[in-house]
Amino acid sequence: MTSRSVVVKIGTTSVTDDRGNVAHEVLAALAADVVALRDEGWSLVVVTSGAITAGWAEVGGGRARPRDATTLQAVSAVGQPLLMHAWRDAFAALGAPVGQVLLAPLDFSHRGQYLHARGTLEALAGLGVVAIVNENDAVADEEIHFGDNDRLAALVANLVGASHLVLLTDTDGLLTADPRLDATATLIEEVTALDANLLEAAGSSRSGVGSGGMASKLAAAHMAMWSGVTTVIAPARANHSLRQALEGKPGFGTTFYPRPERLSARKSWIAFAVASRGTIVVNEGAEHALEEGGRSLLRVGVESFTGSFVEGDAVEVRGLDGQTIAKGLVRASAETFYESEDVVVVHRDDLVLLRRP
Ligand code: GLU
Repeated sequence: MTSRSVVVKIGTTSVTDDRGNVAHEVLAALAADVVALRDEGWSLVVVTSGAITAGWAEVGGGRARPRDATTLQAVSAVGQPLLMHAWRDAFAALGAPVGQVLLAPLDFSHRGQYLHARGTLEALAGLGVVAIVNENDAVADEEIHFGDNDRLAALVANLVGASHLVLLTDTDGLLTADPRLDATATLIEEVTALDANLLEAAGSSRSGVGSGGMASKLAAAHMAMWSGVTTVIAPARANHSLRQALEGKPGFGTTFYPRPERLSARKSWIAFAVASRGTIVVNEGAEHALEEGGRSLLRVGVESFTGSFVEGDAVEVRGLDGQTIAKGLVRASAETFYESEDVVVVHRDDLVLLRRP
């Protein structure tokens, strides 16, 4: 994509009103920003939440929202077309066609699927169509958690090589504390590294129906920072929120700056998209060789391992203290470990060191 490309994600509490119906005026306002920015040369992908909430407003008859995964999946199937219809109307009023792309986590784990999804998104952009993405909740193989769309949006940003990820939500950004518990909470305007204090500040803030709270947003920002993507968490209902977020207006939202060294697309895919199939604990010598020497992990450095993995699977590499050092793709399946001490277990080309500052 172009150097100016953005994935903008809008959360359930912003997309729906307090009865759970689609908030058409919010969609219209975001669509206006998207089309104006597109006309200025930006590439844009929209990630929307709200299918379950809109679906329950349609069929729930005012009852309390169900909790079991199968019913939620069914409800999402009701809400997704309602949501999509509303997006279609919002963009049609501006003369812009939209396309729906539903993705599941597995689409990101299988490299073939991952490249396929990228091709589709690029082709849509080429056709001048705004892609509207959601998780394929109706058939997702895991339970649907609120906050999943934050991660999904970060994966999409990585997938399309976006320069920016904007997470529009129902707060002003990342605050120093939960404002409902602490009246002195203030906005953190800029973040250059995620440290334990920030993660703690975000830990407990979780709003009722919709958003995954700050924790899932920080996890998304973390992934984006490693992928070279600038992330902004900003209030959805502010005037021209997307434009303001991209312009970096002081005092508007929280901006997370990427690390200077951008991981290659393939390495960030290894680090963040693929699920680990096991854990390998390495000895001190190997820890040093990986982190200081930039070496491959050899069998001789493996202290122990758990999980059953075969060649090509992703594993987490941990130190003796249990801390995660790296993630990588194994070249040897667990059974072949004992053949020889210098079997390459994870080659340096398939290894992402995760403790670098
Ligand atoms: N995909 C879910 C929905 O559209 C939302 C997940 C989330 O809130 O992150 O209802």
